[in-house]
Amino acid sequence: MKTNRDWEKPVRRMELLMRLKSFPVAFKLLEKQEALADIPFLRRMTHKVTLCQLITIVRTFDWTVGADLNDFLSPMCPSIIGLAGLPEVFKDGTFRSIVWTKSRKDGQQYESSIPRLPTGRYQAVAMAPLVYNPFDPDLVLIYANPAQMMLLINSLQFEDYEVMEFYCVGESSCSDAIARCYLKGKPFLSIPCYGERRYGHAQDDELIMALPAGMMDKALKGMEALYKRGIRYPISYAGAEMDLTYAFPMSYSGLQQLEEIRGKDNRILLGVTGGIASGKTTVARMLEDLGAPIIDFDLLSRVVAEPNKPAWKEIVAYFGEQVLLEDKTLDRKKLSQIVFREPEKRKKLESFIHPRIYHEFARLIKDFTAQDPQAIIQVVVPLLLEANLQHLFHKILLVYIPQEMQAERLMKRDRIPREMAANILNAQLPIEEKKGYADFILDNSGTLEETKRQVEEVWKKLKQMQKERRQA
Ligand code: ATP
Repeated sequence: MKTNRDWEKPVRRMELLMRLKSFPVAFKLLEKQEALADIPFLRRMTHKVTLCQLITIVRTFDWTVGADLNDFLSPMCPSIIGLAGLPEVFKDGTFRSIVWTKSRKDGQQYESSIPRLPTGRYQAVAMAPLVYNPFDPDLVLIYANPAQMMLLINSLQFEDYEVMEFYCVGESSCSDAIARCYLKGKPFLSIPCYGERRYGHAQDDELIMALPAGMMDKALKGMEALYKRGIRYPISYAGAEMDLTYAFPMSYSGLQQLEEIRGKDNRILLGVTGGIASGKTTVARMLEDLGAPIIDFDLLSRVVAEPNKPAWKEIVAYFGEQVLLEDKTLDRKKLSQIVFREPEKRKKLESFIHPRIYHEFARLIKDFTAQDPQAIIQVVVPLLLEANLQHLFHKILLVYIPQEMQAERLMKRDRIPREMAANILNAQLPIEEKKGYADFILDNSGTLEETKRQVEEVWKKLKQMQKERRQA
């Protein structure tokens, strides 16, 4: 059967990132039961079945299966997916009250709470492992434990955040995932019911999510982004017995430090960032002309590691004199080559330098604000977002130019070939991805005059912000 897309790569990747135990299930409802015959390798069971038996056959045996109304053992399963209506003895609560409720009234309430697709729209259902591209699915069913499912929810929420709502009607809870997903066009999660555990072999720790097939890319994209940020399954447990003060930027002691930096006066700390050669220095100078003093993290990193300062001593003790130039200053090129190859050594180097930068930064902030409690201080931090330093600043300004222009300006300024510029750019978070974190996006792709006009606009807004704070 010709399908509209090849699912193999994304599904294999998701299986790996989530460490799934069973196949994601492609789920499709067919308006004509004859359409089952067009699906390759499709098997029909020779006895009556339940919907959850079919699901488990797909996700654990990796079969392709199909069924129409006559294949189902009870009217319950087909009523959920719209293949048939419910007989009166179900509707009036009698069926539920035999086991699940104390009275028929409760049973009726129960039955009417189960989400169902409108009767008669579909005649058959087909299911198969999505990875084999069996057909173009409506939904994908994923079974996973709560920790894996949390990762899937986090992934779906990464972009265009929405609260994940979920329901559990109790028995027949496959309806909570499957029918709700059809009816609302959104992902729905549920806890597999008793019947699905007994007959569909859902394991004790499994949850089910049904998501529209069109949202698989969103889920995977979010998962990849979280993976890069260290959010992975299995979760690497940390710290039941440890002091987490330094792992938590927002721990209580961290908050105290933060308050000292952000202050209670009318100062504004503006984090200025961008990509390499996007124009941070150019913009910072314009802001300086308007009255904003500059703290430059690149400069601080040099100052704190000047010969015979504590950071310099620790670096030389750890890396040896091989990282010194003749005048005893650090050979930055050599150091960066060493730490590029060995991440552990990078961590070590950062542990010598970062606390000192922070200390210097805090000292400068104190100085500037002692002179002027209304200061608008710009702090230029090239890797502000990569290093997750957003919380230090009241506002973040991104100096933006498209990536291609970044390469051009970098080649021209540093007189380097295109390939080298591309390598440097590839090692940074793409500038497009930084846009979502900025309060101000300053487009520096036009003339310097145009940039200056935007800088003046930002300045006006910051002043206005201070005025409103004073009045509040
Ligand atoms: P780095 O990341 O290397 O510190 P940066 O972000 O501070 O760089 P700048 O040094 O300000 O970037 O600018 C990079 C180059 O682009 C410089 O040569 C600068 O003169 C040039 N440049 C900046 N803005 C513009 C502009 N609007 N039009 C043309 N050239 C510009």
